[in-house]
Amino acid sequence: MEKIQNYIDGALVNPISNQYLDNYEPSTAEVYSHIPDSDKKDVDAAVKAAKQAFPAWSKTTKDKRSAILYRISELIEENLEELAAAESKDNGKPVSLATKVDIPRAAHNFRFFATAILHFASESHQMEEGAINYTLKQAIGVAGCISPWNLPLYLFSWKIAPALAAGNCVVAKPSEITPMSAFLLSKLCIEAGLPKGVLNIVHGLGHKVGAAITEHDEIPVISFTGGTATGAQIAKTAAPMFKKLSLELGGKNPTLIFDDCNYDKMLRTVVHSSFANQGQICLCGSRLLIHSSIYERFKSDFVREVKKLKVGNPKNADTNQGALVSKAHMEKVLSHIEIAKEEGGKVLCGGYQVDLAHEGLNGWFIEPTVIEGLNMDCRTNQEEIFGPVVTMMPFDTDEEAITYSNSTKYGLAASVWTENISRANQVAEQLHMGIVWTNCWLLRDLRTPFGGVKQSGVGREGGFEALRFFTEPKNVCIKY
Ligand code: NDP
Repeated sequence: MEKIQNYIDGALVNPISNQYLDNYEPSTAEVYSHIPDSDKKDVDAAVKAAKQAFPAWSKTTKDKRSAILYRISELIEENLEELAAAESKDNGKPVSLATKVDIPRAAHNFRFFATAILHFASESHQMEEGAINYTLKQAIGVAGCISPWNLPLYLFSWKIAPALAAGNCVVAKPSEITPMSAFLLSKLCIEAGLPKGVLNIVHGLGHKVGAAITEHDEIPVISFTGGTATGAQIAKTAAPMFKKLSLELGGKNPTLIFDDCNYDKMLRTVVHSSFANQGQICLCGSRLLIHSSIYERFKSDFVREVKKLKVGNPKNADTNQGALVSKAHMEKVLSHIEIAKEEGGKVLCGGYQVDLAHEGLNGWFIEPTVIEGLNMDCRTNQEEIFGPVVTMMPFDTDEEAITYSNSTKYGLAASVWTENISRANQVAEQLHMGIVWTNCWLLRDLRTPFGGVKQSGVGREGGFEALRFFTEPKNVCIKY
């Protein structure tokens, strides 16, 4: 059985303890590879390698750094098929999604930051007293990057690429639940000629490897994407050490559907924004708020379209919904459906695990589930479920839709459907979210700031925001 290895100091190596964890294929529920059960010792080795590589890498010209990152993006594209198949097998997502979204976006992340760094300028401020200030933006040192399982290579590369482009060396941990594409990436980095120690990937558990990265006193900057509770734990550890932190956390995103929207376009997109990747995207809209005048029409059309989504083998091209990432996660989502019922919710479609044993698939599939009849304050409408479950609620006025939208502790993203440009702008302004999409969803320009407010996170990634995060500004004042 294949053994995944850590990538430390330019080489693929076994964990120092020689201990491994099982890696499951979500669609079959079978173990198909082993993951290093790394610990603090492996993290220490990775930090040592990164520290040694830092002086040379931070002084390597931007052109050279850019060329290496660009080569990594080309290699990801050249290996798209293999990476997409690996991502699908490891995560349970349809291979069509990995081929169209996850892997191309990972290549794009490297390409984007390979070129962004060439255009990253600093400011200067002239003073009437006869002095000029200029700002140096210097690489910080060893950056820690910790990412989740839902979009494995997509989110892993979203952190690593800007950190490396800015001249830092990196110690990174992918989710232990989905390690395979990060392992394949380490091979591509070697092939691309990334100098040894510049990027180090340590596989293993959050409370061992993740915690060792967070606690390490020679890692002054941490970029984390994952759940809000884990983010709080990381912040608690990092704060007294005065680490620079970027936290991209959970969400409970509203989709606001007004009666003046382009109905057909809205319906098509909302099916997708509710259930893409089995609802396991932090940006999926899990609370559908619908103007009462079109509520019944939308309900019948939406439920009809959702029932058409094919739950099946992630390897098949016509599968819309693959498996959930783990047994524990599937059970968590199913328990939320039970809570919704206890809270008085009416399940309009779905609600159960799907048995695909007859196809040789004993994994973790759930029917896409639509629930109505719940109030805004109930647990189902307040807590992140992170699965193929959405609720529907009617509203009468714009103010009501905005109040409902802003009613949770989260504030990541919203999607607004209206053809009235004034309404669109007014609503966008009043939503407490980091991102508002109008008449679209997940349309991403990588130059824009990305992140959430309230308990959805601290800081912004994307574009120059990411390069600013991974550099330390230093003001130099010269009197002439
Ligand atoms: P987790 O918070 O459980 O894990 C995220 C990463 O942190 C994993 O690599 C995990 O390792 C690691 N980790 C766990 N415990 C610790 C610790 N004590 N110290 C350091 N690292 C630790 O999130 P999930 O993987 O379950 O991802 C789902 C969550 O991510 C959802 O809440 C979702 O909303 C959020 N998310 C947010 C996004 C955003 O941009 N705002 C984007 C995508 C997802 P291990 O896997 O071994 O536990």
